[in-house]
Amino acid sequence: MAARLIDGKMLAATVRAQVADRVRTLRAQGITPGLAVVLVGDNPASQVYVRNKAAACEAAGILSRTVSLAADTPEGELLDLLDSLNADPSIHGILVQLPLPGHIDTGRVIAAIDATKDVDGFHVANAGLLLTGRPRFLPCTPYGIMKMLESEAVPLWGAEAVVVGASNIVGKPMALLLLAAGATVTICNSKTRDLGAQTRRADVLVVATGRSGMVTGDMIKPGAVVIDVGINRLENGQLVGDVDFETARQVAAAITPVPGGVGPMTIAMLLVNTVESAERQLPA
Ligand code: NDP
Repeated sequence: MAARLIDGKMLAATVRAQVADRVRTLRAQGITPGLAVVLVGDNPASQVYVRNKAAACEAAGILSRTVSLAADTPEGELLDLLDSLNADPSIHGILVQLPLPGHIDTGRVIAAIDATKDVDGFHVANAGLLLTGRPRFLPCTPYGIMKMLESEAVPLWGAEAVVVGASNIVGKPMALLLLAAGATVTICNSKTRDLGAQTRRADVLVVATGRSGMVTGDMIKPGAVVIDVGINRLENGQLVGDVDFETARQVAAAITPVPGGVGPMTIAMLLVNTVESAERQLPA
C-alpha cells in the first residue's frame, strides 16, 4: 500500500494562522513583531527564500525588513549592520540568509547576532541551550519536522530514529530533538560505512544530505515514517528531495513530499520563533 502523504503545506497554513492570532494579540498591546532578513549577494535560490519569508511575515502581520547587500560587501559592514539591528527595539528577530559569500566568515557573523534575536537558532548560545535541554529558539527546519511528527501522532518514545546528515542547521539539532522526545537516535554522515544497514533500522527516518536519490525504497523499513528534507533541482528543472519518492512510498507508512513537505514548515516555524521573541518583550 502506498504511504500516506504528510502535507506540510496544510500544516504550515494552520501554524501560520495561529501565529497571525498571536500577532493580533501582541499588536493590541502595542507590540508589532519585527523580523529583519539580511541577504548578501545575488544567489537566486536565496533571493526566492528571502522573498517567501518576507511574504509569509506580512501575511501574518509581522513587520518584515529585508536588507540586501552587494556580494562584495566587506564583513565589517555586515557586522556593523547586525550591531544596529541588535540595538533596534522594533526588530525581534534577525536572520542572515546562508550561504554567505566566501570572503565572509559565517561563524563570526552568526556569533554577532544577539542570541535573544537569533530566530534561526544557529547562535552557539542557542545551540548550547538546545544541547542541554533548555531550548530558547529551535532551528526552524527540525522544529517544523517535530511539529509534523506531532501532528501525525508518530510515537517517538523508545522509537528507533535515524538522521542522515549531520549539519549544524538540520541534522544535529534534529537528532537532539528526537533524543529529547525519547527516541534512540543514530546520526549518519558521508563516512557511514553501510548506510542502508542504518536506515533499515529506522522507525522514523529523516534525510538531509542535499543529494537526490540518496535513500531508496530498499533502504527503508516497512511501515517507517520518512521525512525528506532535501531540496535538489534536477537538470530538467524538477524539484526533488533526497529520498527516491516512488520506491520509498511503496514501503513507508508515511512520507513528506518535495515540494510541499518540510519546506513550508520551515518558514512557518520562523514566524513562530519571531512571534515568541516579541512575546518575551511583554511584562511578566
Ligand atoms: P549540508 O551540506 O550542510 O550537510 C549535508 C550532510 O549530509 C553532511 O552531514 C554530510 O556528511 C551528509 N552526507 C553527504 N553525503 C552523504 C552520504 N553519502 N551518506 C550520508 N550522509 C551524507 O546540508 P544541509 O544540512 O544544510 O542541507 C541538507 C539538504 O536539506 C539540502 O538539500 C538543503 O537544500 C535542504 N534543506 C532544506 C530545508 C527545508 O526547509 N526544506 C532547510 C535546510 C536545508 P558529512 O558531515 O560527512 O559531510
